[in-house]
Amino acid sequence: MNDALRDTLAINPLLQDWHTPYGLPPFDQVDAGHFIPAFDLAMPAHLAELDAIASQAAPASFDNTVVAFDAAGRLLTRIELLFDNLASSETSPALQEVELIMAPRIAAHKNAIYMHAALFSRIDALYGQRAELGLDSEQLRLLERIHLDFVRAGAKLPEDKRQRYGEVMEALAGLCTRFTQNVLADEAGFSLQLKDAADLAGLPDFLLASAQGAARQLGLPEGSHAITLSPSLAEPFLTFSSRRDLREIVWRERVARGAHAGEHDNRPLAAEIMALRQEQAALHGYASYADYELVDRMAGKPAAVHDLLSRAWEPAKRKAEQDRLALTEMARSLGEPTPIAAWDWRYLAEKVRQQRYDLDDAEIKPYFALENMIAAMFDCAGKLFGVRFVEQQGIPLYHADARLWEVRDRADQLIGLFIGDNYARPSKRSGAWMSIFRSQSGIAGGTLPIVINNNNFAKADTTLLSADDLRTLFHEFGHGLHGLLSQVRYEHLAGTQVLSDFVELPSQIFENWADEESVLKQHARHYQTGEAIPAALLQKLKAARQFNQAWATIQYVAPALIDMALHSLPNGTEVDIAAFEAEQCAALGVPEDIGLRHYLSHFQHLFAGPGYAAGYYVYMWAEVLDADGYDAFIEAGDPFHAETAERLYRHIYSAGNKQEPAAAYRAFRGRDPKVEPMLAKRGLI
Ligand SMILES: [Zn+2]
Repeated sequence: MNDALRDTLAINPLLQDWHTPYGLPPFDQVDAGHFIPAFDLAMPAHLAELDAIASQAAPASFDNTVVAFDAAGRLLTRIELLFDNLASSETSPALQEVELIMAPRIAAHKNAIYMHAALFSRIDALYGQRAELGLDSEQLRLLERIHLDFVRAGAKLPEDKRQRYGEVMEALAGLCTRFTQNVLADEAGFSLQLKDAADLAGLPDFLLASAQGAARQLGLPEGSHAITLSPSLAEPFLTFSSRRDLREIVWRERVARGAHAGEHDNRPLAAEIMALRQEQAALHGYASYADYELVDRMAGKPAAVHDLLSRAWEPAKRKAEQDRLALTEMARSLGEPTPIAAWDWRYLAEKVRQQRYDLDDAEIKPYFALENMIAAMFDCAGKLFGVRFVEQQGIPLYHADARLWEVRDRADQLIGLFIGDNYARPSKRSGAWMSIFRSQSGIAGGTLPIVINNNNFAKADTTLLSADDLRTLFHEFGHGLHGLLSQVRYEHLAGTQVLSDFVELPSQIFENWADEESVLKQHARHYQTGEAIPAALLQKLKAARQFNQAWATIQYVAPALIDMALHSLPNGTEVDIAAFEAEQCAALGVPEDIGLRHYLSHFQHLFAGPGYAAGYYVYMWAEVLDADGYDAFIEAGDPFHAETAERLYRHIYSAGNKQEPAAAYRAFRGRDPKVEPMLAKRGLI
C-alpha cells in the first residue's frame, strides 16, 4: 500500500468503523468523492474473503462454505447500500458521475463472484449432498438459493462463454443506469409555470399549495405556481384543471419522458438493453428472456402470467366502454369536445365521481394529513404485530426531510430502525419505494435492520394526501415491515429478498388497513379543526371505491402484457421499441383515451435494472394473494384478528425467504389462493 492510498483510507469515513448512533451511516461526513476509493478497496477485499473460503484445506461444509459466503462482503454491502440510497433519494451531479463509472464495475464484481470456479465447486458439491448434510429447513433453503444464484449468474457456463457473459452483464448495468438518469433529466427539465388566474382554473387549494411549493423549489418568485412531472403534481393537475390545453401539455410531456431525440433519448438504449437480455437468455439456453426470468418466479412460465392478466383484460375493456359513455355525456354537458382524449379521462372521471357519489377529492384530503396518516400506519402495525415506533431527533441523516424512528417489539426490545423520507424534490427519483441501509440477520449476535421508505408527496405547510397517496404510504410501509419484522438467521434470506412475484404481498395486503373504517374513524381528523371524518363521507368513500377501476386496470394490465410480449420475443429479434409498443397497443385494442400507465421510453420497472423485467405483472399476481389473504381477516370478523395476524407475521412478514412462497402462503391461509377476490375487488366480476 502506498502512502497516498494509506492517507485516503485514513480519512475516508466509508472505510472506518461507524461509531454512530445505531451504526447508522455517518451521513454528515460522507461526500461523493469518498465512494470510488471505498469501492476500490471493498471489492477486492470481498474477493479475498471468497478466495479464502475457496482455498481452505478443510473439505466443504455448510458452515465453512455456505454460511461463510453469506457473511462475506459486509463492508462492500454497507457501502453499496448507502450509495444506492443516496443515488435514489438525494442525488447530485457528482453522485451521478460516480454511478455511471461504478455501475459496470459493480456488475463486473458480481460476475467475478458468481464465476468463481473454486468457490462454486464447493457449493455445487454441498448441493449434490444436500439431503445427507443434516440441515434444517432454513439451512437447506439457504444452500438451494445460493446455488441457484450461481447457476442463474452463469457459474455452469462453459469456459468459452464466460467472458462474453461478463461483458453482457457489465454493458447492461451501464445502460440501465443511463436509462434511469435520462428519465430523471427529462422530469427535472420540464415545468409548467401557471401565470395567471386563468391558468389556475379548477385547481383546489391543496394543489395550489403544492404548486406554490414546486415553484419555490424551482426558484421562481414567491407566490408563483408551477406544475412538474412529479405524479403528486401532474396527476392531480390532470384530474382538476379545467384548462384542457394545459392538461394536454402535461399529459404529452409525461408520455414523452425518455422519448425526446438527443442525449437523453431512451429508445435506442432500450433496444440495446433488449438485445443484450436476449443474448443473456441465449447463453443460458432459454428461448427468450421471459423464459429465463420466469423460472425463478411463483408463476413459473409466461403462460401462467398471460392466463391471469387475460382474466382481467377483457372484462376491464367491456366495463370501460360503459364508463366512457358516462364520461362522454359529462363532456357534452360541460361543453368540452368529444370524443374525449387521454388528457380528459381523469378530469371527466372526477366530475362523474363527484356527481354520482357526491364525493370530492378536495373534500377528503383535509382529513388525510400526512402526519395523522403516519400515526395511523404505525397504529395498525402495533395492533397487528405489537410493534411501536419512537421518533429520534437530532441524529444527522442525509436530508432535513428524512426522519428516524426506533422500532420496538412487545417486550420493548429494539428490533430495527425506520427512516421515512416523504417529500418530492428534484434530487429524488420519482415514485415510491422501500429500501434498506442494513439487513436483518441472526448470525453472530445479529444485526438490526435499517429500513427506509421514500415517497414523493408534494411538500406543503400541512401535506394533505389523496386516497391514492394514502394507499401508497401504506404500501411502502408494508414493504418496510417486511424488512423490519424479518427474523431469519441468514442475511441472504432476510426481509424482502423473496421471489419477485411474492414481494408485493406484504406491501399490498397492508393497503387494506388504509381502507378500514375503524382506522379512519380514529386517525382521519381534519387538519384544522381536529374533527373526525364524518360517517357520511366514509360511506361515500366506500361506495366510490370501485369507480373507474376499469381505467386503472387497463392502464396497468396493458403495460404488463406489453412487458411480457417484449421480453418473450425470441432471442435475436431486433426491436424498435416505439414501433413495438404501437403494434402491441393496436393488437390489444388499448383504448386511446386511456393509454398506458408507463410507456417503454420511461418504463423504469423494465429498464432501470433486471428486477421487474418480464415482471410488471407481479403487482396483479400479488394482488390475487393480498385480496384472498385479507379475506382471512374478514372471515374472522375482525380486521386485527389476533390469530390471523399471528399467522401473517409468522409465515409472511417475519419469514423472509425461509420457505418456498406457495408453501408460505398455504401455511398462512390454510389453502391455495383464489383469483376471484382480486377480480371482485376491481369490480370485474
Ligand atoms: Zn411495492
